[in-house]
Amino acid sequence: MSKEEKSVGKALEEKLLSQKKNGLLRIDADETERADAFCEGYMKFLDDSKTEREAVTSAIALAEANGFSPFEFGKKYSAGEKVYYNVRNKSLILCVFGKNSVENGIKILAAHIDSPRLDLKQHPLYESSEYALLKTHYYGGIRKYQWVTIPLALHGVIFKADGSCVTVNIGEDDSDPVFAVTDLLPHLAQEQSKRTLNEGIKGEELNVMIGSRPFKDDEVSEKVKLNVMKILNEKYGVTEDDFLSAELEAVPAFKAKNVGLDCGLIGAYGQDDRVCAYPALEAILDCDNPDDTAIAVLTDKEEIGSVGPTGLSSDYLRHFIEAVADAADVPAYNVIRNSKCLSADVTAAYDPTFSDVLDPRNASYCNYGVAMCKYTGSRGKSGCNDASAEFVAEVRKIFEENGVVWQTTELGRVDLGGGGTVAAYIGNMDMEVVDVGVPVLCMHSPFELTSKLDVYMAYKGFAAFIK
Ligand code: MN
Ligand code: MN
Repeated sequence: MSKEEKSVGKALEEKLLSQKKNGLLRIDADETERADAFCEGYMKFLDDSKTEREAVTSAIALAEANGFSPFEFGKKYSAGEKVYYNVRNKSLILCVFGKNSVENGIKILAAHIDSPRLDLKQHPLYESSEYALLKTHYYGGIRKYQWVTIPLALHGVIFKADGSCVTVNIGEDDSDPVFAVTDLLPHLAQEQSKRTLNEGIKGEELNVMIGSRPFKDDEVSEKVKLNVMKILNEKYGVTEDDFLSAELEAVPAFKAKNVGLDCGLIGAYGQDDRVCAYPALEAILDCDNPDDTAIAVLTDKEEIGSVGPTGLSSDYLRHFIEAVADAADVPAYNVIRNSKCLSADVTAAYDPTFSDVLDPRNASYCNYGVAMCKYTGSRGKSGCNDASAEFVAEVRKIFEENGVVWQTTELGRVDLGGGGTVAAYIGNMDMEVVDVGVPVLCMHSPFELTSKLDVYMAYKGFAAFIK
């Protein structure tokens, strides 16, 4: 047998058995270069968009630069037109009208742009032992011990008594100060170290250091607090009571970075789920004259259950689709039940240091491409959207035909925990939906890791789905 000839068994193996391979071994140098170039835009988006409000602002700027204009309810649109609908400054729908009747259904990409963080309470500012501190209430699922002793930035909005609004962003510019939550020194942590990891840092201990210098006046009792308020007043024209109508968030102050000597990974805060939101955004920006009308939804509130008027369990997406259907004189229920959606959310990447939380045969791996997750949920798939085999087959075919490197995934070992995405809410509207997203290491931590190849393959997959 010559070297070129395969044995019968080897040929049969290649034909019949699944051939898993690292994505970087399956693409050429040009494709790797395209992935790296794509991720430069992504890393800038991450630095500019650490909250859902900032992500909406960044996305609208990119949309307007790409020919999108504000959606007008009641207006008739024709094929090729591009619109966006700003949902209360926290969620965004981008839509490109297709050649087919909208009654054929809409191709939807849905990702979320909120991320776990420390929200300030409504009475946040206090002085204790001549430090000024901020009380917080964490948002989303965080491991509290990860949020101490790292540089934090403050982002958000403050609505003043007269109704005017100021935008706050402190800690991102190199010349800005940053903030921090303190922790004990190991020398004196004997008692604290007996706490469980979950209780190692308690919610009411996540107090953010914001000042230490007193205002020089012996008549004043809380001099450091007054000095901090004076600085804020000079900068933003606000008083302490204005915190009542503010949304201020402490987020990690560091910027997105290349990780590894080969620069193959991206480390950054808020990649869940901007690592899917950015590829979905780029896919819709690049979408010209699609067959079916295409939508990208960038939504708020996924991390706390998709609740409220800016979360996907509200009716805002339905209302948008109804408006599009009405303008086209077709029944909205036909549009909705014929629509199909990729719920673009992250999944847990296999971590060799903590490998026992996943089934290695069904886990997703960094560099193996964008990951399709048929079901999430907890225990017996409870609370999840279990995508139909029919729809999984349809998406699989699209990916295969368009050179998308992809893999499957599940959310951890059976009975270990679990979770959900917006897929369940979209499925409940009566449309096909499956989760497709990027594997993430250290998900929900201040510094999450993703693979550049996987980010780019998410874009390729999303673009192929809506073209
Ligand atoms: Mn997510
Ligand atoms: Mn999440």
